Amino acid sequence: MKNIILLAPPAAGKGTVAELLKSRDGYVQLSTGNVLREMAQTDKQLNEYLKTGKLVSDQMIMEILKQKLATLKDKNYILDGVPRTVNQAVLYEELADELGTDIGVVIYLNVPKKELIRRIESRIVCPSCGASYSLINPELQPKKENTCDYCDNELIRRKDDTKEVFEERLAEYKAKTAPLIQYYKYRNLLTEIKANNPEETYQLIKKVI
Ligand code: ADP
Repeated sequence: MKNIILLAPPAAGKGTVAELLKSRDGYVQLSTGNVLREMAQTDKQLNEYLKTGKLVSDQMIMEILKQKLATLKDKNYILDGVPRTVNQAVLYEELADELGTDIGVVIYLNVPKKELIRRIESRIVCPSCGASYSLINPELQPKKENTCDYCDNELIRRKDDTKEVFEERLAEYKAKTAPLIQYYKYRNLLTEIKANNPEETYQLIKKVI
């Protein structure tokens, strides 16, 4: 199995498909969004910043990545939400070289804006483990109403899952993250998948890894 970079606009379903790869294939998921939200529980300034939908600094992300990757030796992992800028991609490759790991494949989940908004407005998440559920998609509902399948916590809305903040996240994505599509395409590392539903997306990814 190969390591995976998931590249996608906000709310395209990176976390959901990562969850499937984790439970079925033993991948380790590294979600920078989840790590930052956990840090924000004790960091008021970061908590306020995340509500704006803007990207945090490359430096902060690379520190997180460095720390986490050091614990993942010999494991297959999924990067969910990182790299998100070309600079992060370059720095990640240097880091992977240092650690002697292969960056593997890049999966670009392509989802139209209208569908992203629908997903944002119906998403509920676990504040503890970050697992994500949907209020409308029958495939993505928790077993027990409003309760996380894994930690029994009450599910909540993410503070940045509003239509207004979504527009800012999408603008950040277009300006800073979308250039990575070309970056990885030119280097023959990218596979584009139309992410219509989680199971289909999972099966298509399995073919690549
Ligand atoms: P999304 O659901 O939009 O993909 P994430 O949960 O991945 O969101 O990230 C939430 C927020 O965390 C982002 O809006 C951004 O502020 C910050 N963040 C996460 N990953 C990165 C990254 N690689 N670079 C910069 N900021 C990041």
